[in-house]
Amino acid sequence: MVSVHEEDLQVWQGSRELLVSLHDRLIGNHGTEWLELLERYGTFKERMAAVTADVDAAGICGTCGGLCCMNGKYRFNVLDALCGVALDCVPTVNFRQTPLCPYGADTGCSLTPSLRPADCILFICEAIDQKLSPPARLELTRLEQLVRDCLREASLVTGELLGTPVLLWGSKKLVSKLRE
Ligand code: SF4
Ligand code: SF4
Repeated sequence: MVSVHEEDLQVWQGSRELLVSLHDRLIGNHGTEWLELLERYGTFKERMAAVTADVDAAGICGTCGGLCCMNGKYRFNVLDALCGVALDCVPTVNFRQTPLCPYGADTGCSLTPSLRPADCILFICEAIDQKLSPPARLELTRLEQLVRDCLREASLVTGELLGTPVLLWGSKKLVSKLRE
C-alpha cells in the first residue's frame, strides 16, 4: 500500500510536469508580460518579509520554534510554484518530515521570501504583530493587497484559480488525465 508521503511525492512530481507545461504555454501566449507579473508577485512578498525582518521576525520565530510551520504542505500555491518554475528553482520537498512543513528544515524555511508561499508571507502571528509600528502595519496591509491583486490577475490570465495549493491542483488534474 502506498503511504501518504509517497502519494504526496507522486502528486508533487506529476504536478511539476503540469506546471512546466503551463509555464511554457503562458510564456508562449504572454511572454514578458507574464514574467513581469511573476516578478511583481515575488517582489511584494519580499517587501512584506522585509517589514517583518525589521522587527526581528527571525529572532522571534527562533524562540517560538516554528509553530506556524507545522503541517504546511498545502501552503504552496500554483502561482508560488510557477515562480519557482520560471526561475528553475522549484523547492526540494520532504513529505516524510511531518508534522514539519515539507519545505522547511531544522534551521527554518528553506525558501527565499520571493519564492515562499504567499500564505506564509501573509500570515502575521500575534508575537510579530505586537512588535509592528502603526506605519509598518499600514505598509503590510498595502503590500498584502498588492500580493492578492497579483494572484487575481494571474488567475484571470490563466483562467485557473492560482491561489489553489499545488498538491490539490495537481491531484485533481492528474485524476482527470487518468480518466481521459
Ligand atoms: S511567525 Fe509567529 S508562529 Fe510562526 S514561527 Fe514565527 S513566531 Fe512562531
Ligand atoms: S513554506 Fe516555509 S514558512 Fe511556510 S510553513 Fe513551510 S517552512 Fe514555514
